[in-house]
Amino acid sequence: MATAVAAAFEGERCLAVEAGTGVGKSLAYLLPAALWALTHGRKVLVSTHTRALQEQLLEKDLPLAARVMKLLGHSLRYAMLQGADNYLCVQKLDRLQGSPALFPEAAAKTIAELAQWSRTAETGHRSALPCLVPQGLWSRLSRDPDLCMGPGGRFWNSCLYRKDRERAERAHIVVINHALLLSGARLPAHDALVIDEAHNLEDTAVSHFGLAVTHGRFASLIDDAKSYTGEFPALEAACRALAEESARFLDEQAREQGRPPDPAESGGRLLPEKTAVLVPDSLVGFEKALLAAAGACAKEERQMELKLLQARASVLRGDIQAILSNVSEDMARWIEWSERGVTLRAAPLEVAARLSEGLFSRGIPVVMTSATLSSGRGLKEFKAAVGCPEARELALDSPFDYPSQAGLLIMDDLPPPSENAKYMAAVAARCRKIVDAVPGGVLILFSSWKTLRAVHAKLKRGIKDRPLWMQGDTGHDALMEHFEQAGNAVLLGVDTFWQGVDVSGGALSCVVVVKLPFPNFGSPVEEARRKWFDSMGRGYFEDFSLPRAVMKFRQGFGRLIRSSTDRGAVVVLDPRIAKRGYGQAFLEALPRCRKLSGLDELAAFFSEPAEIK
Ligand code: SF4
Repeated sequence: MATAVAAAFEGERCLAVEAGTGVGKSLAYLLPAALWALTHGRKVLVSTHTRALQEQLLEKDLPLAARVMKLLGHSLRYAMLQGADNYLCVQKLDRLQGSPALFPEAAAKTIAELAQWSRTAETGHRSALPCLVPQGLWSRLSRDPDLCMGPGGRFWNSCLYRKDRERAERAHIVVINHALLLSGARLPAHDALVIDEAHNLEDTAVSHFGLAVTHGRFASLIDDAKSYTGEFPALEAACRALAEESARFLDEQAREQGRPPDPAESGGRLLPEKTAVLVPDSLVGFEKALLAAAGACAKEERQMELKLLQARASVLRGDIQAILSNVSEDMARWIEWSERGVTLRAAPLEVAARLSEGLFSRGIPVVMTSATLSSGRGLKEFKAAVGCPEARELALDSPFDYPSQAGLLIMDDLPPPSENAKYMAAVAARCRKIVDAVPGGVLILFSSWKTLRAVHAKLKRGIKDRPLWMQGDTGHDALMEHFEQAGNAVLLGVDTFWQGVDVSGGALSCVVVVKLPFPNFGSPVEEARRKWFDSMGRGYFEDFSLPRAVMKFRQGFGRLIRSSTDRGAVVVLDPRIAKRGYGQAFLEALPRCRKLSGLDELAAFFSEPAEIK
């Protein structure tokens, strides 16, 4: 892999590498990247999806790469840059400190401590702060690119974000994340890009290029405008009017699209082709009040802030118009509701052209890599989906000895998932038996929160002799730590747990796949996608749903063996893998491993002495 990456840098080419777990892919791109940057005076950006990988690169892999470079007589500099809201803005801090009426008394001590610390700090990153800052307060202190005054501001000399930026400008390798990569923010000038965890690139792009209008967006605008209402009473009235109308606006939209009266019921619906585009009048009035206040403001800095706030309100108005009017054929537009509120959304159904323009047409080498980039049929689909069909490709199998290390048990006697209640009861009963057969930790992967909760409730009554946790019980990192330490815990997860669990040894001995992870067929976005595929004469199932499900299934399977000494089994409870024609696609996508025939053999597998070749 390192040779292929070095060749991509030298030849200014794009490369996609699927490197199975255990290949050592981060060093395989960091070492050639470091050498290339140091010997040619270049800079490389490395983008990751998760914070965990970012930390691993910064705390383990980059220091190691720097030591190797030192042996070769080079001094490697590296830095991290994250999204704006991870940095303290000293201008906002100063404003808040000078306006005690704007924050609760309990926050005064934290604000004073931050002000004292910021005078000598070398970074404004949230992780370096001297005290815990609650999220509510942090959102009033973190850098807001819309309001950032940059070098023209009064605080530029003491700006901590500037110090972080300058460090990144001086570095040979800068670690960022996909959200920042796609955000349109000004990135340090760079000559090459490595995208690790590239399997998440498409989804990150979909959410980045998508739109969402929530109550929270209105509330945050109103909140920020309140800092100026003391000086401009007309703005206060505009804030009040917007607060009242925005609360009604989204609820009315949801009611019109058929939201049931019970607020606990969640759901959603595609917006009809023709929707009346009615932006709240009070939003227009709010914008006018902000502009009037800016016009009347004597201080240039305040004037600029008010104009930036008006620009934000204008973006919100534009987003509402774009979602309610059918502006683009390849955008799904829908409304969704749950206990947490109503959201108007739009999302692109494909992002290849946008990514191609933003990332791959700039004439710099781009290396994309991940342990799982495909559904096991080559990287063509992945490359097309991210807009780089011409990238060279390399697939490297995991060095692990799966036939010795991994068992696979397919249980095809459960009722099909379509028989909801029977299926959930059978899944819970079977999970209980699997837990009894496995002495180590068990990770149970679900495709829906509803099934997860139902099974969790049933398991809770039966499992008393070992810890039982579910995703969300506590923060992700703490949950992983507890799971690893317990050694025999049972952990239930959905979504991110299919790829975000990295626990080696007996603490993760068994992965249970409850249901084949097809995209949610009934969701508005999938409905829009089906129609879109139909309109192009393409098969939604073969070209999208099945490959996505197989890829996610491979990711789930990949949670099991994380090192050359790991040993464990994957159990699949969805009978469709054995009874439907497409089931073969899932089985063929897995590495060859030992077939287990039932629960007795599963128990025997774990009582055998490990014989890893
Ligand atoms: S330059 Fe931007 S981030 Fe820095 S202090 Fe000024 S407003 Fe805040």
